[in-house]
Amino acid sequence: MEHEDSYQLVSEPKYECLLFDVDDTLYPLSSGLSAQCTKNIIDYMVEKLGIDEAKVPEMCVSLYKEYGTTMAGLRAIGYDFNYDDYHSFVHGRLPYELLKTDHVLRNLLRSLPVRKVIFSNANEAHVAKVLSRLGLEDCFDDIICFETLNPTRNSSVAQDNVNGESPRTLVVCKPFEEAYEQAFKIANINPQKTLFFDDSVRNLETAKIMGLHTVWVGASHRTKGIDYALESIHNMKEALPELWEDIKPDARISEKTAIEVRV
Ligand SMILES: [Mg+2]
Repeated sequence: MEHEDSYQLVSEPKYECLLFDVDDTLYPLSSGLSAQCTKNIIDYMVEKLGIDEAKVPEMCVSLYKEYGTTMAGLRAIGYDFNYDDYHSFVHGRLPYELLKTDHVLRNLLRSLPVRKVIFSNANEAHVAKVLSRLGLEDCFDDIICFETLNPTRNSSVAQDNVNGESPRTLVVCKPFEEAYEQAFKIANINPQKTLFFDDSVRNLETAKIMGLHTVWVGASHRTKGIDYALESIHNMKEALPELWEDIKPDARISEKTAIEVRV
């Protein structure tokens, strides 16, 4: 019977990598952490960069839309500041205690013997803190974050703001194609064999163009460029049962062998 199983399960799995955003993907928007983060960004712009408080909310939205993150936008339009200083102000004071150990997600991730990689615009310290609060620090094989995508940080501000055009951002981040190209190269990812989870539609739209399979987390319906929609990351198994069906024969056989040895 054992042989029957191993012959039956030799087909190639559809996915060889699962790629995950962090904020509002691995934990819900309702945790309140992101709202606090937005407040800290506003405070940084007013207190540290001296921007008129009345202009800040609109500026945040337009920079985020055009440059991927507010920080990338601030840098691109000429504000000179240290990235580490920005990150420690915006993330360093977040109420991380709002996040609790997520046993359900931990068990889901641990039950999948597929490579798992983090792909976040946030800085390394923030990603590490979130994963640790959620109890997921040992669930991922690789982490692509701000420092990975921007190894030559804190270089000078954009110089080429000519003809009134928006200057090119100096920060590599989602949703721009360059961030995906770099992530694929650094983490050795084949997009055609990778499933990408993110809460941002625009990140998923680029992901689709770049060849990834896409999962919109925190959404109840699919839209253009979206292959799957999950209201919560906890619904992974119901929405994507093939991930578990794809489990390679070696994983099943070794499990079985372990039990046989014990008997
Ligand atoms: Mg997110």
